[in-house]
Amino acid sequence: MLVRRGIAVSPGVAIAKALVLGTETFRIPHQFVRPEAVESEVGRFRSAHAAVCEEIRSNEQLAADHLGKQYGAIFGAHLQLLMDPKLTSEIEQLIRDKFYAPEFAASRVLRKYAKVVQSLGGQYMAERATDLFDLEKRVLRQMLGQRREELANLTCPVIVIARNLTPSETASLDRKHVLGFATEGGGRTSHTAILAGALEIPAVVGLGRFLSDVSTGETLIIDGNVGEVIISPDEATLERYRDQEAKRRTIEERLLTFANVTAETKDGVRVYVMGNIEFPDEVEHCTSRGADGIGLYRTEFLYLQSDREPTEEVHYQAYCRVIDACGGKPVVIRTLDLGADKIPGSFREQFKDQPNSALGLRSIRLSLQNLPLFRTQLRAILRAATRGDVRIMFPLVSTLLEFRQAKMILSDVMEDLQDEGIEFKRDVPVGMMVEVPAAAMLAEEFSREVDFFSIGTNDLIQYTLAVDRADTSVATLYSSGDPSILRLIKLVVEAGRKRGLPVTVCGQMSSDPKFLAVLVGLGMRQISVTPHALPELKALLHHMTIPQAEEIARRAMSFDLARDVENYLRGELKKLSPEATL
Ligand code: PEP
Ligand code: MG
Repeated sequence: MLVRRGIAVSPGVAIAKALVLGTETFRIPHQFVRPEAVESEVGRFRSAHAAVCEEIRSNEQLAADHLGKQYGAIFGAHLQLLMDPKLTSEIEQLIRDKFYAPEFAASRVLRKYAKVVQSLGGQYMAERATDLFDLEKRVLRQMLGQRREELANLTCPVIVIARNLTPSETASLDRKHVLGFATEGGGRTSHTAILAGALEIPAVVGLGRFLSDVSTGETLIIDGNVGEVIISPDEATLERYRDQEAKRRTIEERLLTFANVTAETKDGVRVYVMGNIEFPDEVEHCTSRGADGIGLYRTEFLYLQSDREPTEEVHYQAYCRVIDACGGKPVVIRTLDLGADKIPGSFREQFKDQPNSALGLRSIRLSLQNLPLFRTQLRAILRAATRGDVRIMFPLVSTLLEFRQAKMILSDVMEDLQDEGIEFKRDVPVGMMVEVPAAAMLAEEFSREVDFFSIGTNDLIQYTLAVDRADTSVATLYSSGDPSILRLIKLVVEAGRKRGLPVTVCGQMSSDPKFLAVLVGLGMRQISVTPHALPELKALLHHMTIPQAEEIARRAMSFDLARDVENYLRGELKKLSPEATL
């Protein structure tokens, strides 16, 4: 049994067999074989082994003929590794003594050797480890042949293990069969992490190198509550986790009683708690937990779920579904936030050579340079807006000029709809996300032109602290409690208050219970959060008064280190609600 620690990004516990995604994905269908089949299974392994040896010999010959002897020798070294009698007899022993399926035995043994070699350190050893992983793939490919399985065609429950998953890959995970996932890379607010929350599957990211510790088919526990992955757990551990999960479910069910309670503080001040969504069917996750509406609809996932560009009708249908399911409650539709890590297939070529995608052509910048795409989306939003309380929000606005240009295009689209005699809503509130420090610093100037602000702390932290939100190696520097972030939030809240504009926080910070008091204390009367956080936050509001929250905000603003802010807020949260999630 092996335990690895990473960053918990989506709560819950999943227990299932691992599906390790390399560049090629193989699903090992059975971990064990029947005792009477052992000899024929050993035979199957031997044939596969012989075929791979033959394949490598012919590669060796080809390379030597075309490139020279020294290149052929690379394959010679592979052959030597694979023909090592110690290795083959260990695999055969596992099949005979432990009844392992030959695929599982080969994967286990080759991975074990790869790991030992890797642990010796150095470039040379790293390359030999890669050779062993390559041999594993060759052997599996021989044995599984046509049964190689893609992520999209799963037939049984798995936990997906990968170096990294892109937001598009995550968006297309088959929710019925993928019970959880764990990745070596990623940070707390990476889009992959956010999507895990949306899919409501337990997930841990930022585990560092661990792929070589796991073989496809091995049992895993993903603990998305504390951020642990347990490889090959023993029976006692499995039992403990089942118990723990049952207790967590009971607490969750108890918190669900807050779904029908108005979100307000102990002294009766209303705080609107809305939900963030990526897919229309998530509205249900929000309404069933008592959301006051949808505070952030990340519409770019319409592009990321499919390789085809959505038509106006596809946009329109998705928006109608969300608006109708909200039953008159507000829906904030954010226009496309494509670019950076969210690159749909149709854009891959265009983005191939972007030197720094986080600072490049993304979000509103991309929409303003791709007007047909932007106009298509705006037409659909304006048409769907007749069905409910819709607000439009532009992402990553960094200058006033950008906001004005986006609004001009919106007016232009209205003119077109009018000329075409198509029904649409004209008086839709138009707001912006504040996720670039420049926008926060000029909040007062922006407040003269926008109808509302929504603070996107995920990007605001990334751009203020110069820390990539998806990079595990700098994850400890990425902190919502940094004094600079609190001050920027304060600037925006004050600019909004002066003009009576609604201000929301829709970044992940507002889903973290320890920041609720400081946000309310700074004057926030609206937050938009990941759906599963809704009940706990609503319950927590009932534990605090406005003067208490203001005092907590005042004290939090007096620290000069993120660490001190976060420790202080953790302590205050425990005082407000001893049961709260830390
Ligand atoms: C944010 O940046 O805080 C935000 C809500 O937008 P996204 O996470 O989609 O970038
Ligand atoms: Mg953002």
